[in-house]
Amino acid sequence: MRGENYWLEKFRNIEALWEYNGEGPHAQHENEPVHTAFCLNTDLVAGYPELIHDICLNEFFPEFIRERGKINWVLTYIPSIAGARAMAAKLARLLQAQVGHIDVRSMTVYAELRKNERAVLVADEIFSGTLAEVAMEAVQEKQAKIAGPLCTLTNFSGLKEINKLPIKSLIEGPFQRWPAKSCPLCQKGSIPLPVRRAWYGLMRRPETAG
Ligand SMILES: [Zn+2]
Repeated sequence: MRGENYWLEKFRNIEALWEYNGEGPHAQHENEPVHTAFCLNTDLVAGYPELIHDICLNEFFPEFIRERGKINWVLTYIPSIAGARAMAAKLARLLQAQVGHIDVRSMTVYAELRKNERAVLVADEIFSGTLAEVAMEAVQEKQAKIAGPLCTLTNFSGLKEINKLPIKSLIEGPFQRWPAKSCPLCQKGSIPLPVRRAWYGLMRRPETAG
């Protein structure tokens, strides 16, 4: 366990972390009508294999050392996100498990998951926890089991567990986030920019004194 500040610094160093500093645009999440003053671009984290290694070896893997039974699969349910895929692949290697993914829209499990096999879920970030619930359901439909914890980089949800599955996250906030309709930064005249598509627009914030 390296602590939240260690990871915040790591992510700042690779410019994968954006925080609102009182001026310029703010972040708008692509998948939900939520505006925030903080975001982590986990696609950028995927470009740093040594960082993915550090995360998986020192944060996620130790969570499973006391496990008696074999973990058969590591599955990500946000396969479009490079960071989530890279972490799932690395954790699978450490656990000597196989790697697969779940399409939560179609409830399709892309893994030859057999009855009673055990799977770990990996995500890059958790917002409401709804997608994780769907992924858990998809695994259970295969009569396979979920081994905890659910591993993620950022946990925006404020939850400690989802359907009794504990969450292991590197960064927990507290985060400032608002529904798009009542966002105080929009009201101040700050422009919302979509996180991934406008990442470099977000990062080009004005210099502040000092
Ligand atoms: Zn806003």
